Amino acid sequence: MGNSEQTEIIFDDIGPEIVFRVYDPKLNFRGVAVLDNLNLGLAKGGIRMTGSVTEVEVSRLARAMSYKNAMAGLPFGGGKSGIMVDPKGMSAAKKKAIIDSFAKMLRPIVPKYYIAGPDINTTEREMMWFADSHGDWESVTGKPSNYVSKKGGKTRRGLPHELGSTGFGVALSAKVALEHLEMKLAGAEVTIAGYGNVGVFAHKFLQEWGAKIVAVSDSSGTIYDRSGLSHEKLLKAKTKTGSVLNYPSTATSKKLSRDVIYELSADVMIPAAGPDVINSANIDRIKAQIIVEGANIPMREEFEKQLHRKNVLIIPDFIANAGGVISSYAEYMGYDGKKMFKLVESKIVPNVKEMLGSVGKGSTTPRETAIKIAKKRILAGKAPFKK
Ligand code: NAD
Repeated sequence: MGNSEQTEIIFDDIGPEIVFRVYDPKLNFRGVAVLDNLNLGLAKGGIRMTGSVTEVEVSRLARAMSYKNAMAGLPFGGGKSGIMVDPKGMSAAKKKAIIDSFAKMLRPIVPKYYIAGPDINTTEREMMWFADSHGDWESVTGKPSNYVSKKGGKTRRGLPHELGSTGFGVALSAKVALEHLEMKLAGAEVTIAGYGNVGVFAHKFLQEWGAKIVAVSDSSGTIYDRSGLSHEKLLKAKTKTGSVLNYPSTATSKKLSRDVIYELSADVMIPAAGPDVINSANIDRIKAQIIVEGANIPMREEFEKQLHRKNVLIIPDFIANAGGVISSYAEYMGYDGKKMFKLVESKIVPNVKEMLGSVGKGSTTPRETAIKIAKKRILAGKAPFKK
């Protein structure tokens, strides 16, 4: 959201309300936490740890979290944080020292105003380090399930994103979108670009509900089978060999190049890898009828508009991939995995329906419609922390 050429944080009628900069002179790294808006509750959003992350990027992601949390109907505001270090090739001990330091430096605002979570290069392990070093189990979500708190005599467990909440929400979004277009889920042809946490679980649930996953890609290429790819066999191939291309071959399976997946005909396409995968190079060859954005910003808004004009139905990222943050809320509330999955369903399904019900046939895209709904909720929030 916003423009990638943006060089400074934009302050507007929503926020950001707090920009909290930190620097550790001993470990020589900088970090930032941006709390975009607190009207609906504590700011919630993950910690991104990359060499390229900037304050502007963190502020844009924090705004996206404000919209995502408001749209999901959670009592959370939007926030995000960044550690400006590339952890690639770094020892676990060094990474831990950085996370430990970041957690301590954020104590003035965490968990009073901000609760952290996982994002790029931070997983359940880093969340556990963060909570240990910070000293408060509630400072962060996305912790391992065997990481337990017994505070006040109540047992609470971590709920890692690795349980598949995001892929589940993406699959539910696809289901609602198909119903909206009066298309059948049973036998619907689905392509999934990216086979990590989001792609794997989207495959699992859609297959269980009767859809046919005809193509899946990862960084090594695309595996295609008109008869449908088995989730169990594909996950085994990916886990064992690191590549979806090692799926056991069948009479109808084919190996294709990585980016051709975006040009295959399909009832539903799920981008679940990196940003900007649909771009000026392939926009004219997109044949899917529905695109469910599992990944964040898989295309720029101008391309969403172009596809909308061609009657492609797009479920925007901040609605479709909200399962992760809904799981964070479940962890915060002390729910177990079963209750978490129920909560994801009870939030995502009505939200996708509400957005689709308001889109209409005009030029306004689903994203613009959803932002309007989210903004209204944010601006009407009662700002519990300012009382
Ligand atoms: P992941 O790291 O588990 O998996 C990414 C997958 O994409 C891997 O299979 C990788 O091989 C593949 N990939 C990398 N480059 C590719 C390329 N150029 N073409 C095709 N495949 C490629 O990541 P994830 O957690 O599944 O997240 C995927 C996306 O969803 C990201 O944009 C992330 O920000 C977003 N997201 C994830 C969550 C979550 O809970 N995991 C929540 C919200 C949003």
